Amino acid sequence: MKTLTTAALLLASLPFAAQAQQSTDAVQTARRLTGSILVEGKAYDYDQQLADGIGPRLTGSPNYERAVAWAQQQFRDLGLVNVHTEKFHMPALWEPEVLATGKTTAPREQTLHIYSLGWSPSTPEGGVRGNVLVIDDITDTAKIEAQRDKIHGSIVLVSMRGVTKYDVMLANVKKLAEFGAQAVLVPGRVNAVENAFGLTFDGSLSPLPMAQLSAEDYALIQRLLAKGPVSLEFSFKNRIRKDVEVENVIAEIRGRELPDEFVIVGGHLDSWHPGTGAQDNGTGVATVLETARAVAALGQPPRRTMRFILFGGEEEGLIGSHQYSIAHAQEAAHCDAVLVSDSGAEEAKGWLVMGRDDERESLTKLKPLLAGLGGDGISSDVQYAFDTDHAGFLLQGVPSLVLWTNFDEYMKLHHQPHDTFDSVNQHHLAQGVAVTAVTAYAIADSPTPFAKHLTPAEVEEMLKKAKNYDEYLALKNAGML
Ligand SMILES: [Zn+2]
Repeated sequence: MKTLTTAALLLASLPFAAQAQQSTDAVQTARRLTGSILVEGKAYDYDQQLADGIGPRLTGSPNYERAVAWAQQQFRDLGLVNVHTEKFHMPALWEPEVLATGKTTAPREQTLHIYSLGWSPSTPEGGVRGNVLVIDDITDTAKIEAQRDKIHGSIVLVSMRGVTKYDVMLANVKKLAEFGAQAVLVPGRVNAVENAFGLTFDGSLSPLPMAQLSAEDYALIQRLLAKGPVSLEFSFKNRIRKDVEVENVIAEIRGRELPDEFVIVGGHLDSWHPGTGAQDNGTGVATVLETARAVAALGQPPRRTMRFILFGGEEEGLIGSHQYSIAHAQEAAHCDAVLVSDSGAEEAKGWLVMGRDDERESLTKLKPLLAGLGGDGISSDVQYAFDTDHAGFLLQGVPSLVLWTNFDEYMKLHHQPHDTFDSVNQHHLAQGVAVTAVTAYAIADSPTPFAKHLTPAEVEEMLKKAKNYDEYLALKNAGML
């Protein structure tokens, strides 16, 4: 608060909603931002440069490092200030080196559609060979302990269906390794398509080789097991580096009146490897860059600073953003809001308030600026409350918003080989950027704060009210957040 001017302090005593009457200035600014983004915007071009030009960006990989250099250059070209990187720690980096191959060997031979899970160690020299054992419920610790002898030497098939006790799941996967299981197989997607994910939550390696089978192969093996023993063999090799520092990318447009107060506009720069991350999260990166471009082009900075951040390590457990939020905890009180884009390039409907229903009133006051864009919706859905980079800030009590898009099509392609640039809709991407830029600028330019900062007790109360406190605890105990 020490950085606030007297006038701002006086205004700060009025709620945001009471004074967010849309002034002519606000309307004109929104008009200019929207026009610039829709007519001459570069979001589509940014996404293509990233997805086609650089390609998939596993955290810390050479491509990720190229993307870090590229993003800094874009920010510099736009004339932003304080363009820099900040390091965060990854327990391990991971990239596929030799893709997985495998087959059933009994009762008959059949090639498997099999893929290493992210952050899995390689299979041992010569691969894995053995009988399959099914564990129905990975969270049933007593049943797993009772099968200790059977687990030894087995390839364990685990359905992850409905698992929400992530901490118990992780502890029991460790148990499977201790009991001498050779590897763990989990079901993947239908149509034999790789759907990349990992089953650790903190960027560490899983304790034994883990892979996904296509949903069809998984079902076949279950049917064969109903008739008798099934054995498999498979192998894959992953390139692993331990204890590596990776970088987030940061740039700013300094505020004209309250430069020490700031609004974060963020998204993750990293992606999975099967596609090129054009939508997860190339569109989010394009949204951050294009918002920066459009605001810089206005030549009229908002009252507060706008801080643009591209995070790494999101896909492994929100690692870059979480470590950033901790490293910057002392200035969290000066962060007016965090806006994150990470749901692909379908039409934006508005904002997810992630349990912060108190933000609704402030957002409602922005409706006149957003309704014509189709982006004035407000959703209280908390299904994805811990699924992207706002989460660390949300837990610090900082007002947090995630761009709310249609994502029916997105859910069919993210983490998969067809998350590529041809799937990106230029108009929808630009519309989402316009919603983001108008909202972020209005919050940064408001004379008063967007919403209150919650105390730890209030955060806990909010999570309990939204019924996602147990999920939060499970993720925290699993090493995330
Ligand atoms: Zn994402």
